[in-house]
Amino acid sequence: MKRWNGWGDDTVDVALNGEALAFLAGRIGRGRAPLDAGFEEACAAIAPGRLAPHPLVDATPATRALHALGQSLPDWLRLRHGRLGAVPDGVAFPESAEQVRALLAHAGRCGAAVIPYGGGTSVAGHINVHDAAQPTLCIDMRRMRSLIALDREAQLATFGAGVTGPDLEAQLRAHGYTLGHFPQSFEYSTLGGWVVTRSSGQQSLRYGRIEGMFAGGRVETPGGTLDIPTFPASAAGIDLREMVLGSEGRLGILTEATVRVSRLPEHEAFHAVVFPDWERAERAVRELSQARLPLSMLRLSNALETTTMLALAGHAKQVGLLERYLRWRGCGAHKCMLMIGVTGPKAHGKAALREALRIAGGVHIGRALGERWRHGRFRNVYLRNTAWAHGYAIDTVETAVDWPGVTRAMHAVESAAGEAFAAHGERVHAYTHLSHIYPQGASVYSTFVYRLAGDFETDLARWRDLKRAVSNAIVASGGTISHQHGVGADHAPWLAAEKGELGLAAMRALFRTFDPEGRMNPGKLVLP
Ligand SMILES: Cc1cc2nc3c(=O)[nH]c(=O)nc-3n(C[C@H](O)[C@H](O)[C@H](O)COP(=O)(O)OP(=O)(O)OC[C@H]3O[C@@H](n4cnc5c(N)ncnc54)[C@H](O)[C@@H]3O)c2cc1C
Repeated sequence: MKRWNGWGDDTVDVALNGEALAFLAGRIGRGRAPLDAGFEEACAAIAPGRLAPHPLVDATPATRALHALGQSLPDWLRLRHGRLGAVPDGVAFPESAEQVRALLAHAGRCGAAVIPYGGGTSVAGHINVHDAAQPTLCIDMRRMRSLIALDREAQLATFGAGVTGPDLEAQLRAHGYTLGHFPQSFEYSTLGGWVVTRSSGQQSLRYGRIEGMFAGGRVETPGGTLDIPTFPASAAGIDLREMVLGSEGRLGILTEATVRVSRLPEHEAFHAVVFPDWERAERAVRELSQARLPLSMLRLSNALETTTMLALAGHAKQVGLLERYLRWRGCGAHKCMLMIGVTGPKAHGKAALREALRIAGGVHIGRALGERWRHGRFRNVYLRNTAWAHGYAIDTVETAVDWPGVTRAMHAVESAAGEAFAAHGERVHAYTHLSHIYPQGASVYSTFVYRLAGDFETDLARWRDLKRAVSNAIVASGGTISHQHGVGADHAPWLAAEKGELGLAAMRALFRTFDPEGRMNPGKLVLP
């Protein structure tokens, strides 16, 4: 069963052994396990729903509680402390576009706000109730999950937008195809969520971001149905897909999405290469991306992330041998690890890897660590549960910057986090990787591990300080406020820095066209 107050399936646990905990204690101090509230306790505070009854709407406190929050750190604090705050007044599980239209009409009659809900994996406050004074209807899309059509000639697949990652890939795989979109939240996030948050998967180097995959679809809006036909390309004015991509539920509900799929690759492997220091590693990935080799992934960890990955791996003896070998090859305390994905026809893969290793330099240490990464690619996120149980929070931020600003942005974000915690007399363990590499620049993805105070108000205040400090640092470094997690409520205050007032006004006008009464996911993306 899915955990109600953490990440993932409650039968899956990823352990941290004694050495890993000693490593964390050495960096930031020993954590203390906080006390969690129970589910019944959290539900007990929920007031009766205020929506008129409707056959498609479930108003039971348990269902409403399970749809109240996402996966951001403040969401976790609310869940763990049983302080859910405002929850939706009802949750509907439509099975057709017709039912979605009926639900939008019902929300209109009740004067309710509407929150479209995919997998609930938002880490930016996308699905939280905005105004407790207004009734809210949550529309959970996960029953609309079928493969509706597969056009093999055009390599287009149409799905119900509530399909989750594993379900989508299984349905395509049965026909020999893949979408190739693998965000770390793959297990639970949905196609609709990916499209409207402009998601990016781990192998975007080969398959592209979701905006390149989204070919067309259908959106039910309070103002009517928007159908977007598919074309291989079009010069017919503004591309309507661009209005849906990144719309974060503000203009309507994506019920169907047609995506560009690929044949299953013949071969796939992940290799690890180690560099003596960041400067050489950063130059190598820039040159690799600009050489435009047919690779599927380049993921570069900075020195502290490399050390952390090795320390938390839990195999001290093998890691010790590897480190000794790497030291002998000139990669010591500042070493940085690069994962290279090779996907496609076997012969091309071999040639691409050979050329990549020639361009990159560094020490190629083969496939063992790459395979370990592949195996753990969706399991590492379970460490968030384990760390919490030991009294540590794990939070992340991400941005994208042009190459001249990449290293500067990385340092700025890490030191802003350090300063934010120093003000509270605490240390933060901050490390970074470049998760998506482009010829123009890279996404800079930083992780923060710090001790929980164990008290709701203190931890929420610390998170607010951290979010403010790192978001200001991102903007000051010329980065976007989000490369992949979206804006939601948490990043909305920083959006004006990149869109400008005129840009924001245009977005507000767009949403008004489809949603004149402002019912769709208010308070997210663009502030009033
Ligand atoms: C552990 C973890 C790892 C993550 N890794 C990645 C990653 O690698 N790459 C990445 O891009 N993101 C990542 N994310 C962020 C998150 O998974 C993405 O933003 C994802 O696209 C959200 O999809 P969802 O289906 O869960 O949407 P939800 O969280 O349910 O909703 C997100 C937004 O989309 C809207 N929405 C959802 N479905 C629809 C629909 N059918 N029509 C209209 N609006 C809709 C909601 O109203 C909301 O505004 C991660 C999150 C977590 C918790």
